[in-house]
Amino acid sequence: MLTTRPRGTSDIIPGQVEKWQYLEHVFRRLCREYDYAEIRLPIFEHTELFQRGVGETTDIVEKEMYTFLDRGKRSITLRPEGTAPAVRAYLENRLYAGPQPVKLYYTGPMFRYDRPQAGRYRQFHQFGVEVFGAHDPAVDAEVIAMAMDFYSRLGLQGLELHLNSVGCPGCRAVLRKKLQEFFRPHLDGMCADCRGRFERNPLRILDCKVERCREVSTGAPTTVDCLCPDCAAHFQAVQDYLAVLAIPYVVDPRLVRGLDYYTHTAFEIMAADIGAQSSIGGGGRYDGLIEACGGPPTPGIGYALGLERILLTMERQGCAFPPPEGPDVFLAVAGEPASLEAVRLLQQLRRAGLAAARDYLGRSLKAQMKYAGKLNARYVVILGGDELARRVVTLKDMAAGTQEEIPADRLVDGLCRRCRES
Ligand code: AMP
Repeated sequence: MLTTRPRGTSDIIPGQVEKWQYLEHVFRRLCREYDYAEIRLPIFEHTELFQRGVGETTDIVEKEMYTFLDRGKRSITLRPEGTAPAVRAYLENRLYAGPQPVKLYYTGPMFRYDRPQAGRYRQFHQFGVEVFGAHDPAVDAEVIAMAMDFYSRLGLQGLELHLNSVGCPGCRAVLRKKLQEFFRPHLDGMCADCRGRFERNPLRILDCKVERCREVSTGAPTTVDCLCPDCAAHFQAVQDYLAVLAIPYVVDPRLVRGLDYYTHTAFEIMAADIGAQSSIGGGGRYDGLIEACGGPPTPGIGYALGLERILLTMERQGCAFPPPEGPDVFLAVAGEPASLEAVRLLQQLRRAGLAAARDYLGRSLKAQMKYAGKLNARYVVILGGDELARRVVTLKDMAAGTQEEIPADRLVDGLCRRCRES
C-alpha cells in the first residue's frame, strides 16, 4: 500500500513532466493569442453543483463521481469536469456584470471513477475553455478552431473533427417523441441502460456503445432532422465559418449531449492512433446551463481536451518534444576550500540567471565529470585547490570537448555571454 498509488492515478516524474510543461506552455500561449483569461477553480465542489450542472442522468453523475461527506457532514465531490465549476464561479463572482463575453481557460486534474485502461484514468488532466455571454456562431467556430490549432501546433496529424447540432429544447422535444416512436418496438432487445434512457432521456440511446443498441439505432431520427429554422441557421453558420477557416469536419448525428441545457453545437475530436479511447477532446454549446444553475439566461460554450490521450497520440505519431534541458553549468569541486568557493560561485551564477548545479556526495573529480555528463550540463567549471590559489578556473565545454583556463572573476560574465550566444 505505502509504495503503490491508487488505481487509475499516475505520477508525472522528471523526464516526463517536461512534456506536460511543454503542452501547458503551448496551451497558455494559444489562450493568450485567442484572448482567454485563466481561471483557477477548486478541486472539490458541493455535490449538487455537478448533479445540476452535469445532469442526474449522465454516466458521470450516476456512476463516476468521487463523492464523500466532509467532517461537517456536507456532501463534497472531487470535480469530474470543469464546466459546472466555471459556471458557478461566473455567477458567484458576478462576472456577468462585467463586459461580455467572458472568455476563460483552465487546466488541471479531474476525477472520475471509471474502469482504468489505456487512455482512461481515475485522475486525469484537462485543458478547457468556456465562453459565457455570446450566442454568435462565430464563437462556436472560434473555440473549435482554437482546439484544432492546439493539436496542430503540437504536430498531431490525421485527427477527425466530428460536428453536430442538438438544437434547442424545442427541437429536442420533437426529437424525443420521434425517438420514442422509433425505439418502442425494439426495446426488448436493448441494454438495460437504454431501456432506462428510453423514458428519461431517449437522446442518450444514440451514444450507447453497446453493439446491439448501436445496430438498432442505425436509421433512428437524428437531431439534425428536427432542427427548427433558427437552430438550422445557427448550425449552417458554424459550418460556413469552419469552411472559411479551412477546417475539415464530418457531421456526426450520433454526437449528442443529452441534457436540456446543451444546445446547438456539439463537437468531438478523434485520434485514430490510440485505440478504443479515441476522443482527445470535445465540447459544445450550453445556452441553458447558466440559467439552470440559478443565473440569468446566458449563452455559453466550451470544450475540454484530455492531456493523457493527447500525449499518448503524440508519442504514437512520433511528434517532437523540446529536447530535455540540463543545467547550464556544473561546478566540479576538489577539496574543502574549493567547496566554500563553489558555494559562493553557485550563488553568483544563479543570481545571474544561469541554471547551476554541483556535487554533494564527495565524488572524485572523474566521477563528477561523469555525473555532469549524465545531468546533460552544457559547461563544467573545475575548481580545485591549485586553481583556487591561482584565482583561475578551468571551463569545459561539454559538447565541444574543449577546455580552457579563465580568471575566476570573469567566469560569471563569460558564462552568461556564452549561454546567451549558443
Ligand atoms: P468529457 O469531459 O467527457 O467531454 O471529456 C473531454 C476529454 O477528456 C475527452 O475527450 C478525453 O480526452 C478526456 N477524458 C475524459 N475522461 C477521461 C478519463 N477517464 N481518462 C482520461 N481522459 C479522459
